Amino acid sequence: MERLSYDYIIVGAGLAGASAVAGIREIDSNGSILLLGSENRLPYDRPPLTKSLWSGRKGLPDIFIYNSKFYEKNGVELRLNSPAARLDLSAKLIYTEEGKIFSFGKLLLAAGGQPRRFIFSGNASSEVIWYRYLSDFEKLREKIGIQGRVAVIGGGFIGSELAASLCGYGAQVALLFTENHLCARVFPKELGAAVTEEYIRRGVYIMNNQRVNAISRDGNDIMIETSMGIVRADAVVAGFGIEPEVNMALYAGLKIDGGILVDNHLKTSHPDIYAAGDCANFPYDVLGKRVRMEHWDNALNQGTTAGRNMAGANETYLHMPYFFSDLFEFGYEAVGDINSANVTVADWKERYRAGIIYYLDSFSRVTGVMACGIYGRMEEGRELIRSGMRLDPQSAVFPLNLN
Ligand SMILES: Cc1cc2nc3c(=O)[nH]c(=O)nc-3n(C[C@H](O)[C@H](O)[C@H](O)COP(=O)(O)OP(=O)(O)OC[C@H]3O[C@@H](n4cnc5c(N)ncnc54)[C@H](O)[C@@H]3O)c2cc1C
Repeated sequence: MERLSYDYIIVGAGLAGASAVAGIREIDSNGSILLLGSENRLPYDRPPLTKSLWSGRKGLPDIFIYNSKFYEKNGVELRLNSPAARLDLSAKLIYTEEGKIFSFGKLLLAAGGQPRRFIFSGNASSEVIWYRYLSDFEKLREKIGIQGRVAVIGGGFIGSELAASLCGYGAQVALLFTENHLCARVFPKELGAAVTEEYIRRGVYIMNNQRVNAISRDGNDIMIETSMGIVRADAVVAGFGIEPEVNMALYAGLKIDGGILVDNHLKTSHPDIYAAGDCANFPYDVLGKRVRMEHWDNALNQGTTAGRNMAGANETYLHMPYFFSDLFEFGYEAVGDINSANVTVADWKERYRAGIIYYLDSFSRVTGVMACGIYGRMEEGRELIRSGMRLDPQSAVFPLNLN
């Protein structure tokens, strides 16, 4: 079988993979690059799938990270629809599902993750759209038509954003989740309750504290059975987070721990193999722990740094990624350890609409900052977290100025 050699192979044509191409080319203008993707699209941004593609603020052509000219100009061989299947560490080979074998000088694993799926009882569990890909957006849009009924399962990032956008799109939306209020893992209780109230006011049928028992088809309807009753819908969509894509690395013998383990240069346990984005578990030194993140800014910056390091830059990944979300008119940006189980202190300029929430660790140090309805404050948030400043939870004096 023919074997082709590349200086760099990137597995995963998503945000981290595309950013790695740019990173490599910042350092090495000539090395050969192969980018392998399992989808049949050029790398695209996922945030518009739950936001601007529904509002119409963006159309399909706007969501691609780079256009095809970028890959041509940079001499990248782009193989879409061509998933990598096996990695041989000792021979430094990648085998694809279509039966090709490629050898690499340096390899980047940037295959993201698969949506976490559950099997519900009932005869229509397979009709659930586990929302992650552009093809899911297209499938859902087609199923609901203009005013269709959609049951959204999951009150985290994907479910809550999608429910808001679908409502704005004109669909009839029921939102089912097990927690008491939306985004319970990140929002303090009072904010979560206020945001959930806003959904009700906007016409989303909220079914909180609900577990889905079964999903069945009844003629044209899909029936979602919960302890509160039955919801009939034209489409069911779910967002339960992801399972990181670690299998190929695991079978090859790389170190895995809830993600592909990398050091602070994004190098895996093999000296010529790197990992970046949603699949990578990296040391977040400022927080003093390892994390795996499912955030856009992290995939962008890790991809770039990994690409630069594969080409010899030898840089430490010190970036503190922020994340963002939009829920109707309520939007926020956040950085650090955003965990609602921590003590939080909120400084509201406009209650539950505009203000800053500080997340404290057990020593009352600020380890997370969420700016609600206020933009462009993430660098100050990062500095605050780096400083290790303590905040008295009873204090009415706040480190970031709201005016
Ligand atoms: C709907 C949605 C909305 C989001 N909104 C936000 C937001 O508002 N804010 C925010 O901060 N983050 C958001 N995110 C998260 C953000 O988009 C991700 O963190 C980011 O896309 C991760 O990039 P990645 O390149 O690591 O992985 P991915 O984007 O998953 O890219 C990996 C690519 O690799 C491919 N692949 C998988 N296996 C293989 C294989 N064996 N061989 C070859 N290719 C393979 C996959 O098909 C995929 O195309 C959102 C995510 C989703 C799904």
